[in-house]
Amino acid sequence: MSRVYNFNPGPSTLPLEVLEEVKAEFIDFKGSGMSIIESSHRGKEFDAVLQETKALVKKLGGFGEDYSVLFLGGGASLQFAMIPMNLLKPGESADFINTGTWATNAIKQAKIVAAAKVAASTESEDFTRLPRQDELVLDPKAVYLHFVSNNTIRGTQFHTFPAAGKVPYVCDMSSDMFWAPFDPAPFGLIFAGAQKNLGPAGVTLVIIRKDMLDRCRDDLPAMLKFKTHADKDSCYNTPPVFPIYVMNKVLHWLEKNGGLASMRETNMKKGTLLYSTIDGSGGYFRGTVKDPESRSFMNVTIRMGSEDLEKKFIADAAAAGFKGLKGHRSVGGIRVSMYNAMPLAGIEKLVAFMKEFQKKNG
Ligand code: PMP
Repeated sequence: MSRVYNFNPGPSTLPLEVLEEVKAEFIDFKGSGMSIIESSHRGKEFDAVLQETKALVKKLGGFGEDYSVLFLGGGASLQFAMIPMNLLKPGESADFINTGTWATNAIKQAKIVAAAKVAASTESEDFTRLPRQDELVLDPKAVYLHFVSNNTIRGTQFHTFPAAGKVPYVCDMSSDMFWAPFDPAPFGLIFAGAQKNLGPAGVTLVIIRKDMLDRCRDDLPAMLKFKTHADKDSCYNTPPVFPIYVMNKVLHWLEKNGGLASMRETNMKKGTLLYSTIDGSGGYFRGTVKDPESRSFMNVTIRMGSEDLEKKFIADAAAAGFKGLKGHRSVGGIRVSMYNAMPLAGIEKLVAFMKEFQKKNG
């Protein structure tokens, strides 16, 4: 077996133990004589998986009884429309912090269905940093403040969440969900496409607080209402059975490996090592995010002297077993995506490769 170090931004690397467990019980799930993907979503086998996955999300994140955990289809992108549709009534509006593609998309979709105000944007600086608190123009009457905790394409991450008074957060945590512990109290709604830190593509985790659920509109098609999915325990229609099952395994892995505090410790080590290598390269590798406070510990975006050199780096790295390092097609360059499942050893080996590459080609 030859597994590479997989730096894909999502779908992305999953813990090998998880893949092995899935493989081992794929044909006959816990003596049921069938695979979990052949079982009824209303049967006892899958129901146990669903309930346990919900409980694990709550336990790991410290979400109390006032939060509902939902597993929805449509990707994180559906949430860009579904959230404002549900939460905003005529005359109401939400604030948005524009920090890149996924925030921009969320703003565009929200404007189709409701009123969206941009509280701050760093677009004029090519999203190379996050807005500072003193730059936020917040509406105290906003129903919620939407922001993206980690900007997968631009390599920025909020390390201190914006202060928004009593206005609840709606947060897109698609690319850093459970990367580290956080206080859930200010969050009215969190959503995350699973395909980075949580499992395979196909399910979106939505965690919604009761007061937000209560204010959701009723005059919407059933599939687009959070209430439908909360009332029916994510089984109004057939839920994405397989991704939920794999997420269950990933969350068990997370718990077994020390939970969010331990994830943070390893993620900080990985990020510190990679950023110090970049900063110590004398400009050979350049981090695109100038403000150290804004740097992401999930997606590290790098430029080199020329596009040809970047191409050579990506190709040589792939040949050496480091795959998926190409930057997003909209920005180019190099991107090192190192979610929870990427071990510290992966980054240690990558930085050794980077130093060697610089010596040979610098
Ligand atoms: N938000 C963020 C932060 C993302 O990184 C992505 C995908 N890379 C999305 C939203 C869109 O996710 P999906 O493809 O699941 O709709």
